[in-house]
Amino acid sequence: MISPDDLLSRLDKVRKGQTGQWMACCPAHQDRTPSLKISQRADGKLSLHCFAGCHINDICEAIGIRVVDLYPNTPKQPGEVLPEWKRHKLRKALFDAQLYVELARSDLAKGRNVTSSEAEKVLKANECIGRIEGVLHD
Ligand SMILES: [Zn+2]
Repeated sequence: MISPDDLLSRLDKVRKGQTGQWMACCPAHQDRTPSLKISQRADGKLSLHCFAGCHINDICEAIGIRVVDLYPNTPKQPGEVLPEWKRHKLRKALFDAQLYVELARSDLAKGRNVTSSEAEKVLKANECIGRIEGVLHD
């Protein structure tokens, strides 16, 4: 996981708000006045919200981090392993998400138009893949 300081150092015109909240220029669009809200939740997760509507994937990509970097590392007891049923469920979810992304890609390759709601789903699926991979390979 990335620390809030590290995250903020990658952004411009950072202004401190309330505890655990900052505003900065959004790196994913031409932003003159800070419209990116950064907040850290009680569980440590950092959330990024661009009021101009940029997608979290684009924001992370623009500053060279992965979406999964915003999530706290799940503290693990030494020797603790994810129960097999959980791994199984996660692998299944991963497979479904990858399949969805693949199908959308092949649709695009065939020249079919992808609607914005489909594109949104693909982005969500990608985010989901990143998160699951982070959990499975930690
Ligand atoms: Zn933006």
